[in-house]
Amino acid sequence: MRVSRLMLVTLRDDPAEAEIASHKLLLRAGYIRRLSPGIYAYLPLMWRVLRKVAQVVREEMDRAGALETLLPQLQPADLWQRSGRWAGYTAGEGIMFHLEDRQGREFGLGPTHEEVITTLAGDLLRSYRQLPVNLYQIQTKFRDEIRPRFGLMRGREFIMKDAYSFHADEQSLQQAYAEMDGAYRRIFARCGLRAVAVEADSGAIGGSASQEFMVTAEAGEDLILASSDGRYAANQERAISLPPEAVPLAAGPLASGAGELLETPDQASIDSLCRGQGLDSTQVVKVLLQLARFESGLQQPLLLVLRGDQQLNTVKLANGLNGRFAERHGALLAVEPLSPEALERQGLAPLPFGYLGPQLSDAVLAPARDWQPHFLRLVDHTAADLPCFVCGANQPGAHLLGASWSGLGLTPSALDLRAAQPGDRCLHDPSQRLEASRGIEVGHIFQLGRKYSTAMEACFTTEAGSQEPFWMGCYGIGVSRLAQAAVEQHHDAHGICWPLPIAPFEVLVVPANGADPVQGELAEQLYAELQHAGVDVLLDDRSERAGVKFKDGDLLGIPWRVVVGRGAAAGRLELVDRRGGDPQDLAAAELVPHLVECIGRQRQGLLPPC
Ligand code: ATP
Ligand code: MG
Repeated sequence: MRVSRLMLVTLRDDPAEAEIASHKLLLRAGYIRRLSPGIYAYLPLMWRVLRKVAQVVREEMDRAGALETLLPQLQPADLWQRSGRWAGYTAGEGIMFHLEDRQGREFGLGPTHEEVITTLAGDLLRSYRQLPVNLYQIQTKFRDEIRPRFGLMRGREFIMKDAYSFHADEQSLQQAYAEMDGAYRRIFARCGLRAVAVEADSGAIGGSASQEFMVTAEAGEDLILASSDGRYAANQERAISLPPEAVPLAAGPLASGAGELLETPDQASIDSLCRGQGLDSTQVVKVLLQLARFESGLQQPLLLVLRGDQQLNTVKLANGLNGRFAERHGALLAVEPLSPEALERQGLAPLPFGYLGPQLSDAVLAPARDWQPHFLRLVDHTAADLPCFVCGANQPGAHLLGASWSGLGLTPSALDLRAAQPGDRCLHDPSQRLEASRGIEVGHIFQLGRKYSTAMEACFTTEAGSQEPFWMGCYGIGVSRLAQAAVEQHHDAHGICWPLPIAPFEVLVVPANGADPVQGELAEQLYAELQHAGVDVLLDDRSERAGVKFKDGDLLGIPWRVVVGRGAAAGRLELVDRRGGDPQDLAAAELVPHLVECIGRQRQGLLPPC
């Protein structure tokens, strides 16, 4: 390919729309253009990268015995109604684009394909003899993300590889899951990415075990918590840990445990209360009031209790709520804080926010118009385990000192609601501490179990002759996100430094002075020879100054640059490695064999598997 034919438009300055390095560079180097928030055109250079990533993914999926397929993107609503996910994906904060056809039938644009594939499997796979099966596709997905950002990192239209496996028993599922884990590690290593596997939340997809693959990068949206011995790593959404020890309350439990009234005017926050009263935040329990809305219309007020130094993990809360209500009330649509305005709209009296205690009576909800007239009370272990604590007195400007659960007449059933924090001790070895790093989720593998096959009645005949729902796994890779994550990990002040296996071209040939016929001719000759040797080569045949061509070359990030300059007359040229190091002075005749050898090694992937 010749640069003059490439429709190349590079930008000198960072575009205002981009915040992180990889997004800026892909825009500046002419790889992508934004059409609308979260919707990008992949220009020819980007498409070459995406095809190379897809090829690596394809080779590893094929090697693991998966079959490539291509499923419809327009998905009938009734499939999603059968799995119970239509409302959750279309109402409230649901991310599925949906539409009606001319006959008024509803469809969704595929954000994921469990429903479609489970329906097909139920039709096609009748006997245990046909199992296991693993099907994959590489295709555009649509998700109406609440906050599309960072270019291809969080698009509303993006390319995903998704695979789904079907099994006769759990053991076979676990085997496929382990094979996919291995395939994923090879894929990321072959693409030149440093990726780590972490325990993950299964989210709206559901199921039991799940693991994410994170490309470590400062700009990552996910927080990873890991122990330095390498034995534990999890997404913060999912992470568990030992909380810091609580400092015992000096006052000790009062005889009644009902607490002594403490005047605390202007101490509505944990910080100001602790400063004003000389308390430690581990001695305080705090109360958060929220409202959970479900598909059935149920609006359930929540009274959440955590120790004063702890933060709520909203993912754990959502999982807890789904576990309790999903069967009777359908999907959880949203959880929002109970605001004074919301209370007023329900015809309820104002509440003393900042001075609330876990003993707040359900009576405050009695007149509610649409809400359940009682709280669902959820108490985190850190709060439930305190023998004696300080809490709000449910009246403005006052707290209770030395209260206990029994003294307040409460018997909390505790659960894990807290967000694990960097510095927390690890469960597997309390001498280990959690350390934080940031990551970009490029892949996610799940053991779905029988959730979808049961809901959609997708069954096979077992060896014993009975009908049973399939065991299922699903396995995703964000192909377009992965390509940008590679830029996030591999760039410098001058531009992109593509890992060779996914670079749009492997070699860039630049005649320093295109007007010089000797340089021009040698460049053309090398270009032809490299092409002939099966190398992906780009020739900068523009009549630009050498400086402009070198700058663009750095920005584009092609791994090898061959500079044909003044030495051309003597049959010599320079070979430059984009990742750095001194240019090599070579005889023209040496170049092709030398490059073919280097590139041959690099094509296998730059990093050992994670
Ligand atoms: P996230 O937590 O980042 O929203 P997810 O957990 O919803 O992602 P999955 O359903 O696990 O995503 O999808 C599989 C893979 O697809 C993800 O691991 C990620 O690499 C990619 N992906 C998901 N959403 C997007 C998006 N909006 N833009 C680009 N890639 C995405
Ligand atoms: Mg995920």
